[in-house]
Formats: sequence, structure tokens, C-alpha cells
Amino acid sequence: MMDRRAFLRVVPSAAAACALPRFVRAGAAHAPALSVTPLAERLFLIAGGGGNVVVFDSPEGVLMVDGGSPERSADVLRVVKERTGSDRVHTLFNTHWHWEHTGSNQVLGAAGTRIIAHENTRLWLGTTVRCKWRQREFPPLPREAQPNQTFYTRESLSFGGEQIDYGYLPQAHTDGDIYVYFRSANVLVAGDIVSVGAYPLPDYTTNGWIGGLADATRTLMELTDDQTRIVPGIGPLQSRTALQAEHEMLAELKIRLSKLLAQGMSIADMIAATPTVDFDAQWGNPELFIANSWHGLVHRAWQLGVSIV
Ligand SMILES: [Zn+2]
Repeated sequence: MMDRRAFLRVVPSAAAACALPRFVRAGAAHAPALSVTPLAERLFLIAGGGGNVVVFDSPEGVLMVDGGSPERSADVLRVVKERTGSDRVHTLFNTHWHWEHTGSNQVLGAAGTRIIAHENTRLWLGTTVRCKWRQREFPPLPREAQPNQTFYTRESLSFGGEQIDYGYLPQAHTDGDIYVYFRSANVLVAGDIVSVGAYPLPDYTTNGWIGGLADATRTLMELTDDQTRIVPGIGPLQSRTALQAEHEMLAELKIRLSKLLAQGMSIADMIAATPTVDFDAQWGNPELFIANSWHGLVHRAWQLGVSIV
């Protein structure tokens, strides 16, 4: 997914350019520089290290939402230390299991950081995941790198003077997606539920599906208002308007693709039928999205015991 997204997301938005991110030196050879964007007092975004990383430098300790990729973790954590002056990260959230977002688990888990995630994310990080559509196998993380505080529905944390709400978005991008909402800063960290410039992908190998993505974007709309700044899994900050556009696209395409599947269409048939044509200008090449949605719809029907064809 990273490869595809990095390829598709070539043009930064005007909003991102206006945020005037301060670039910092990258440690790894040829790695892109990390950028730091302030979100509120003591709250900032680190981009460019795999998935987006949000850092809260609170009086109670440093709290992070996601940790970048394993290859960029050292760079991400160097920036965290430079900006906070702290060697220690108190709490880390994992928005889901994908490695672009859980790359700091090994270092931080071994150092005693509390790692909060949905229970399904812990389960995926504790086993081998054979991801066919990425043609890659992900081995289990060591026990100390796995989430050590898990939950099932939603919870709230009072930390460093902030109320941090976090909750489950069932079977959407994966089956362990969560949002993390900084209430007084009005910043919502959405993980890969929110996609920028590319269709959001259901990872059917870990139970993601298009209907869950449509439901998840609706849930996030209910949490937000016009002033909310939304941090996507990868890419620049988004508004509620963008979230609404993504929801409407997903809700419509869930219906269209389900109808085509009910006609007995294969993935190739479905791609040839161009069901996404009026959305492609905004969301790009739909082929992987259609293929993953096809698998996800079939898998979902199998789970529910429903015959589609
Ligand atoms: Zn992901």
C-alpha cells in the first residue's frame, strides 16, 4: 500500500503548503526529510516517516499516535526527542496493525511504553500475516513490541490536561482500526480510514471491507465539526468536507459493487464495467480498490452465511 500511495500522492495540497512545515534532517541515506507541523499547543504532526505520527508533549509525559515505519522509526523518535526534550514515551496508540504505523513498537515496547490498541490489532501483530494483495508476509512482532493495553469498543483517557477519546471502527480498513480524538484541540487522528488522493483500501486479509469503511467514515463525521482537523494515515491534514466526500463515495460504491457481484462478476469483469468512473478523477486508479473490495464483499458474505451469486 505504501508503494502505491507514495506513487499516487505526488502533489502536496495547498493546505499542506500553507502549514509551512519545518523540515528536519533525515538520518537514513536517501530517505525523505521528515516534516513537523504544529496542531495545537504541545501537539504536533510528524510526516514523511511512513504513516503520519501525532505527538502530544504533555506535562504528564509524551504520548504518540502511531510510530511511522520500522525503517524510519529511529528518525521519527529522534525528532520526538528533539522536540520534547524527553527520552521516554509514556503512551503509544496503534491505529491498526499495518507496519507503516507500528514501526516504533519494537523500540518503545522494549523501553516500557504503554501501547494501546484494539485487541484485534494485538492479535495480528502477534501472528504471521500473509497479505496476498501486497505479496508480502509479515512475521509476528516480539511480545514486548505488541500492544499491552487493549480494548474492544471505546474509551476515554484523561492525560496531560487533555481528554483523549478513542474508539473502534469495526471491520473497515482492517478489523482493528481505531480513531484517537484530542477533544479540546479538536484534532482527530483517523488512521488509514481516511485516504487522500487515492481510494481507501479494505485490507481483506485482515477482514477489512467497503461497507465497514463507509460505516467508519460516517462514525467519524458524527465525531467532528467544521473546525476539526483530521489527520489521515498518510498525507496532509483534512477537513470534515473531505471526510464527507469520502463517505459519500464509499456508500455509493458499496451499493454499485455489491450489485455487480450479485450478477456473478469476477474482479476483471467488475473493473471492465467501470463502476467508479465518475469518482476516478478525485480518487485515482480504481483497480486495486475494486479488487480488494471484491474480496472483502465475498469474505463478508461468507462470514454472514449469505449467498451473493
Ligand atoms: Zn493501513
